[in-house]
Amino acid sequence: MIISIFDSLRFEKSYIEKANNRRHELRFLKPELSEQTASLAQGSDVALIFVNDKADDKILKTLHEVGVRYIALRSAGFNNVDLEAAHELGMKVANVPEYSPHAVAEHTVALMLGLNRKLIRAHNRIRDLNFSLDGLIGFDMYGKTAGVVGTGKIGAEVAKLLHGFGCKVLCYDIRENASLVKAISPEYVALEELFSRSDIITLHAPLNKHTYHMVDEKAVGQFKKGVMLINTSRGGLIKTEAVINGLKQGVIGYLGLDVYEEEEGLFFHDHSEQILQDDMLARLLVFQNVLITSHQAFLTDTALRNISDTTFENINAWADGKSAPNEIKPAPES
Ligand code: NAD
Repeated sequence: MIISIFDSLRFEKSYIEKANNRRHELRFLKPELSEQTASLAQGSDVALIFVNDKADDKILKTLHEVGVRYIALRSAGFNNVDLEAAHELGMKVANVPEYSPHAVAEHTVALMLGLNRKLIRAHNRIRDLNFSLDGLIGFDMYGKTAGVVGTGKIGAEVAKLLHGFGCKVLCYDIRENASLVKAISPEYVALEELFSRSDIITLHAPLNKHTYHMVDEKAVGQFKKGVMLINTSRGGLIKTEAVINGLKQGVIGYLGLDVYEEEEGLFFHDHSEQILQDDMLARLLVFQNVLITSHQAFLTDTALRNISDTTFENINAWADGKSAPNEIKPAPES
């Protein structure tokens, strides 16, 4: 098969080539998938896409017109694909449901510790030969209440890590995770209760119409003063404006983001020679108590290997005329 790889990033090329094992023709494309770029897949069977590649109904139609029949996501989240439209066009879609929940969970905790112990500020200060400790007071994680929203693969790992720190773990999900309950007996509570009782809130629910802007003005109004909010799931879970106001009022004491609702076209790429046009991001960047990474929570060697291997298990199954092991179909609730 011919595979067009949209938004292909330098660090993943060798992993993709290795997993392909010279079986298919690979076309590495730099641009993200969009209305303007979809026709670059001309003559390809598969569009291999990433988190910020948009595959709405119009774009899927263009892909279909140029010959694409399969959409392979090299990510777990698939909120960027219109599954209904793909289904109607007879296109198959598959994702990589699990490649390393540990990678994302560990980065989540890295954001918590980095913010809490003000590691970036301390490091910058020391590079300036300023060894003062003023302004660097953190808090013990031990004994704090941590609220985990979404206790699937990643959320469950985060809950276990926080349990290991000695946190009291609260959870919210539309369904309880039985193996997590068995492992650490967290307290499942309503979302409002989690928001109002937690010292640390960490988001791990998928982005869909039910979770879009789940952290808005109303939610921020329920937060404990000084709360730490972490989002390594999808940017759209947070209404950025509401969180900026929460930071200005001191309600949010710490904010750690690996994802941002306007990250498309920005994250993963070097814009250092350009003028930042995003005023909300510019505002976020001047808070001392905000730590942002560019959607890198997944970025470990283990995860990259697993992503590529599973991607080619999906593609090879299609090439052999079978169903892909991780095919996703439109669900009534999504
Ligand atoms: P998962 O499907 O295993 O878990 C998601 C959990 O959210 C499930 O338990 C589900 O029941 C729950 N959920 C669904 N709707 C909900 C709602 N309305 N309220 C609360 N909970 C709800 O997924 P996962 O592998 O744990 O991944 C979670 C998210 O992390 C993904 O959707 C993806 O967007 C994101 N992610 C980010 C990165 C990164 O690099 N930053 C990497 C991988 C995944």
